[in-house]
Amino acid sequence: PRPISIPARPRVLALANQKGGVGKTTTAINLGTALAAIGEKVLIIDLDPQGNASTGLGVDRKSRKASTYDVLCGDIGLGMAMQATAVPNLSLAPSTLDLLGVELEIAGAKDRALRLKKAIDELVHDQRCNDLTYILIDCPPSLSLITINAMTAADAVLVPLQCEFFALEGLSQLLKTVEQVRAGLNPRLIIQGVVLTMYDPRNNLSGQVMADVRHFLGDKVYDTVIPRNVRISEAPSYGKPALLYDLRCAGSQAYLKLASEVIKRERTLRAA
Ligand code: ADP
Ligand code: MG
Repeated sequence: PRPISIPARPRVLALANQKGGVGKTTTAINLGTALAAIGEKVLIIDLDPQGNASTGLGVDRKSRKASTYDVLCGDIGLGMAMQATAVPNLSLAPSTLDLLGVELEIAGAKDRALRLKKAIDELVHDQRCNDLTYILIDCPPSLSLITINAMTAADAVLVPLQCEFFALEGLSQLLKTVEQVRAGLNPRLIIQGVVLTMYDPRNNLSGQVMADVRHFLGDKVYDTVIPRNVRISEAPSYGKPALLYDLRCAGSQAYLKLASEVIKRERTLRAA
């Protein structure tokens, strides 16, 4: 008899840190692109009303007909919001400014924290989309209901941490939120890792921060460190991931390394 094929669930990683400007969106775009470049099938879900991940992937506001706002409202499925990007194997569910109002709209619903999880579950069972292997969720800079939706839907959280003086500030609050989600909404949630971003080797402080963070968080911190790199910050204004804009720059190379580290950790976690 033919075995019944159960669709493999993609690994769902939420990029979260309630601080703005730490590299969540940059990591979503470039880790997503790097994963796609090495053969994964990737979907980026833009959950930030600012829509920087959407813009950075070249999807301008006019082209965002269906968005994550509609998905969280329950009006459409995630498959309807998905669109292709210029990167092969990388698709995007874009966001719009409407998302600013979504929390009020769904606040009264019993399943308000489960909206994204339900949408992903449905997508995985949709034959047209079930070859996805990774879903990356770009969270807004807050620990709001939107971020709770992301953590509830995720297998793991990936925390970008900027190499600056206050890097660890606010981290305990983030960890507490992960604990709360695990205790209630999503018992399997783990922290896959912490990625240090915008590292500047010419700045002594950057090195000190890196040492402190490794001391506090141990092997949760990825070996790969993302350097501060001007090509990375230029790329979004061309609507391109850094890996398409300049594959050889230090930033793109670091994101490729990070992608293989993420895959390696996923394999170890799944084998455990
Ligand atoms: P977040 O999504 O956490 O708010 P972003 O990814 O938008 O943070 O990054 C904040 C700013 O820093 C952006 O202008 C981005 O281009 C820039 N940036 C992020 N990572 C790097 C890097 N490695 N090198 C240089 N600039 C970076
Ligand atoms: Mg962002």
